[in-house]
Amino acid sequence: MVTEFNQRSPKIIELEQHVADLIAAGEVVERPASVVKELVENSIDAGAGIITVEIASGGMTYIRVTDNGCGIAASDVKTAFLRHATSKLRDAQGLEAIGTLGFRGEALAAIAAVSRVELMTREAGAAEGVSLALEAGEVTDMSPAGCPEGTTIIVRDLFFNTPARLKFMKSDRAEGAGVAAVVLRCALSRPDVSIRFIKDGKTEYHTPGDSQVNSCIYSLLGREADAGFISVESSDGSITVKGFVSSPSASRGNRSYQFFFVNGRAIRSLMLQSALEQAYKSTLPSGRFPSCVLYITAGLGNVDVNVHPSKTEVKFASDKQVFDGVYYAALGVIDKTKADDKDEPGGFKTMQADEYRSSFVSEPPVKYKSSGRSARNEMPAGMPDIPGILKSSNPAVKPAASSSGYPGGKSGLPDSDSELRSSGSYSLIPDPYRVIGEVLNMYIIVEYSDIIYFIDKHAAHERLHFDALMSDDYEPMSESLITPVICRLGHEDASLLLENAALLDRLGFSVESFGEDAVAIRHIPAEIDIGDTEPVLSELCLQLRQRGTAEPIHRSNFIKTIACKAAIKAGRASGSRELETIAARVMSGEVSHCPHGRPVVFEISKATLDKGFGRI
Ligand code: ADP
Ligand code: MG
Repeated sequence: MVTEFNQRSPKIIELEQHVADLIAAGEVVERPASVVKELVENSIDAGAGIITVEIASGGMTYIRVTDNGCGIAASDVKTAFLRHATSKLRDAQGLEAIGTLGFRGEALAAIAAVSRVELMTREAGAAEGVSLALEAGEVTDMSPAGCPEGTTIIVRDLFFNTPARLKFMKSDRAEGAGVAAVVLRCALSRPDVSIRFIKDGKTEYHTPGDSQVNSCIYSLLGREADAGFISVESSDGSITVKGFVSSPSASRGNRSYQFFFVNGRAIRSLMLQSALEQAYKSTLPSGRFPSCVLYITAGLGNVDVNVHPSKTEVKFASDKQVFDGVYYAALGVIDKTKADDKDEPGGFKTMQADEYRSSFVSEPPVKYKSSGRSARNEMPAGMPDIPGILKSSNPAVKPAASSSGYPGGKSGLPDSDSELRSSGSYSLIPDPYRVIGEVLNMYIIVEYSDIIYFIDKHAAHERLHFDALMSDDYEPMSESLITPVICRLGHEDASLLLENAALLDRLGFSVESFGEDAVAIRHIPAEIDIGDTEPVLSELCLQLRQRGTAEPIHRSNFIKTIACKAAIKAGRASGSRELETIAARVMSGEVSHCPHGRPVVFEISKATLDKGFGRI
């Protein structure tokens, strides 16, 4: 059958407001947890000191957020539910220096578009309040109301009018857990605000709001976690890092207690995670992770929060500065605990992170050629493998891959290194290392000084690829295919991909429907092989399904998938050039962990071998 659609070019029409809102809602409101996050952030922005969050059935049927904030004027309540209506941003300049959690003016419109909302609010000092009811974004009632100062928003029957999305919700228990995690982060982000979380009639958390981070941690994570935390504080003038990190003896088997806040906003960041973990590198065995609750304060101009719709990612003007801040803050206390354990007089006991940091500046240079300018203001000598982040902020200075534990730990370094202080620009490890070859089609063996390094070829390559894809100037390049690739992924995955077509498009894939159970792909990202199209898409479906929602995939997760596919597969032999290139970049300290967090390099010292042979 030939449809009218094929005979004439389709007419372009402006989407009706409610359709546009539904599409936009998909970006902001993915599940109950994202609704709660937006509402609590609004309460915090409204200056509330007390916030109550209550949910029933995982938040699917009922979410209530009550605050004692500034309230909304009766004349503004309807406007607040319009898209791009915000009281927090006036112009493009304001976007440069956002001090509030919200600013897009999308959340209320998006939430209202996919649920039944009741709002009761009274401005401080107003004679009476107002109540407003909306259903699927349409106002159904507005009337004066006697209510306390502040705002209550109730959201019922989330996604009642978008059955496709409803289908992707997980069990109430899982959605409820998602909400609890969000409330926990919000509560930790503001120890000065008292937050109560009630789930199915039972109070789960109640923070005191007394501005004390440790009482806040105690009320949320319990006595056990609180006991393992040590307070840290470090500042270099423009970036301040404050909070708690776990003592090495209180490590955990996962990262679930790693919390980072940047200017009051809960942030997920591989860079911050790796800064923390690098500090514990010589203290914790693999598979054990440090915990932290760290508050990073940076000047508003130094942070860009407008990089992700859910605002859980930020961009720093200087990654290295922030990395250092976290790294040294943690390192300072780790060494202090070590000294305490040994009960050594005159150890690092009283040393603060800042003192600790500056102590490296006065150390003699090790392992770097210097051109006279002190490199150690930028990076301490003998620094263990630090991810590419550092390198990108100052390509001239590269950390050496050293086994010596932590900066300043010079134990494993040959004495002759001191001769290398003389002249020349900063360069790679001065003594040439030797690439011995490859074993098991998987590991590159490199000899340097008296250490033998084993490099996981696949992991290293994946990391290098990932960094390139994640770099600021990376724009996904799409390659158009003369013959579209047809991926028969089954009914469910095919519709999942189509639902996320806009997102995939931004990443270089064009996805079109092709019958019930397949999709046709006409463009793929230039980084991947045609043959990898289907595996990559099917992996993406897996990620989407695991989240159980149509939540947009985190860009970095997606990129991990591409990087992994694009990387050399372990088990395939490489030419010597390929080995040399990878070894050079690993030995320069540019990469230390693959994007999934596995180490890229493993080392055995001569001493270990000697010991094994009974020589020492
Ligand atoms: P944004 O937070 O990005 O401004 P929202 O859609 O979340 O956008 O909220 C729209 C506006 O509604 C806010 O700018 C604010 O003026 C008002 N508002 C929302 N929630 C509250 C609240 N709990 N207390 C006071 N005002 C609120
Ligand atoms: Mg908001």
